[in-house]
Amino acid sequence: MKKTLFCLFIALVCLLTVAGCTGGEREDTAKSGYEIEFSLEENTLNCRQTVDFVNVYSDGLREIKFNLYMNAYAEDAVDKAYATPLKTYGGTEITALKINGNDASFTLSENKLSFSVPVDSLKLGDRAEIYMEYTVTLPECDLRTGYSDGYYNLSNFYPQIAVYGEEGFLSDAYSAVGDPILSDVADFSVKATFDEHLVAATPALGTETIAEGKKTISIRAENIRDFAMVLSDKFLCETVSDENLTVYYFHDGNEESAERASLALDVLKTFSSVFGDYPYDTFTVASTPFAEEGMEFSGLVYIDNLTTDFEKTLIHETAHQWWYNLVGNDNVREGWLDEGLTTFSTAYYYSLKGDEETFTEEIKSIRRSYALYERSQKLRGDKGALNINVDIYSCTDYQYGMLAYNKSCLLFADLYEKAGKEKFEKALSYYVDDNRFRRADSTSLADAFGKAMNCDVTGIIDGWLSDKAVVTTFA
Ligand SMILES: [Zn+2]
Repeated sequence: MKKTLFCLFIALVCLLTVAGCTGGEREDTAKSGYEIEFSLEENTLNCRQTVDFVNVYSDGLREIKFNLYMNAYAEDAVDKAYATPLKTYGGTEITALKINGNDASFTLSENKLSFSVPVDSLKLGDRAEIYMEYTVTLPECDLRTGYSDGYYNLSNFYPQIAVYGEEGFLSDAYSAVGDPILSDVADFSVKATFDEHLVAATPALGTETIAEGKKTISIRAENIRDFAMVLSDKFLCETVSDENLTVYYFHDGNEESAERASLALDVLKTFSSVFGDYPYDTFTVASTPFAEEGMEFSGLVYIDNLTTDFEKTLIHETAHQWWYNLVGNDNVREGWLDEGLTTFSTAYYYSLKGDEETFTEEIKSIRRSYALYERSQKLRGDKGALNINVDIYSCTDYQYGMLAYNKSCLLFADLYEKAGKEKFEKALSYYVDDNRFRRADSTSLADAFGKAMNCDVTGIIDGWLSDKAVVTTFA
C-alpha cells in the first residue's frame, strides 16, 4: 500500500516536471563523416583520411581533438592497451595534416594518445575538413588491433574524433581493464587494399576488385559508432539471410558454421522484436584470435576462435549491438550501463526463447558469483570495492567483471522482478527510442524505467550502484 502511494505521488511529480520542460521531439543531429583509404603492406597500414567534422556539440569550438588509440600499443606507452608484454609493438605516426585544404600543425598530448588541431571558431552546425596521412604499425597480439597467426584485427586504428562532454573534448587514458574507447556515431567510407589471398570480414557489404596480386574493397557504412574489420587468408564464410537481414559468419572451417550463423540471425531477430529493430541490413561475426572471448563493434563482432562458450559469447556480443552501439554510453565512467544490460540480455535471450530454466539458472549463477565476491570484500573491509559507480581505472579486471557485469546484471534482474516482463520490456524500448544513436547515462535509464513503471526508480538504481551490500543470499 505504501509503495503504491509513493509511486503515484512520484508519477504525478514526473508528469508535472515533464510537462514543464519538454519542447517536442528532438531533431536528428548532423553527423561527422570519415573517408579512409589504406593499404596493408607487411604489418603496416599506410593511410589517408579525410574527416568531414560537424560541430554538434557547442558553439565556438577552437580546436578538434582526435584520439590516437594505436599509441597505447607502443612499447613505451604511458597508458597501455596491454596487461602483459606483446611480441611486437605498434603505434601511429602522422605525416601530413591539412585543415580545409591548408597545411596545418597539430599538438600531440603528453601521453601521445590524442592530438588537437586548431580551427577557426566553429559554431553549432559549422563544418571543417581535416585531411591527414599517417602510418600505423600493427602490433603482434590478439587484442582489439593487431596481427596474430594469419589474422589482422583492425579496429580503432584510425584517428577518431574525441567525444565532447561538459568539460570539452574527452581524451581518456587507455586501460587494459574495461573499454576505454568512446565515440559518437558517424558515416564511414573505407577503401582498403591488401594481399589478394586475404578475405575481409567487414561491417557492411562492399565492392571488391583484384589487380596485380592485390585486392581492393570499398565499403560504405552509415550510422556506425566505430569501424572495424578482420582480414585472414584462413576465412571461409557462412551466410544466412532472412527478409532484410543477412548474417556473415567468418571462420576457419568450423563444422558447426551453419548452426552458428543461424544462431546469430535468431539472436538479432529475437532482440529486435523486444528492444527495437537492429539498425543495419548485415551483421558480421568474425572468429579470430582475441584475448577476451569477444568484442563488439558496430555491425561486426570478434569471437575468440578458441572460445569454449561460443553460444553465450555470441549472444553477449550481439546484445551489444543495442547496448553500446545503438544506445551508446560513457564506457569509461559508466561501463556498467552497457555491460550489465548486455549480461542480463544474454541470460534473458533464453527466457525469450521459452527456456525459463536456463534464464533462471544464469541469473542464479551470477548472483552466487557476485555474493562470494561481496562476502570476500566485506571480510577484507573494502566496502568501496562494491561501488559500481567508479571509472575503469579504479578497478582490477576481476573487480570490473564483478561490478560492471555481475552486480549490474543483478540490478537489471531486480528491475525485471519489480517491473514485470511487460513494463521491463517497455522500459528498454523507451531507452532505445529516446537514445537511439546517442549516448545515454544512468539518468536516461532511470527516465525510461520511470516512464514504463510510472514511478521513480532512481532510489533502486542508486542503491545498486552504491557500496551497499545488496546480495545477502547465495540462493
Ligand atoms: Zn560486453
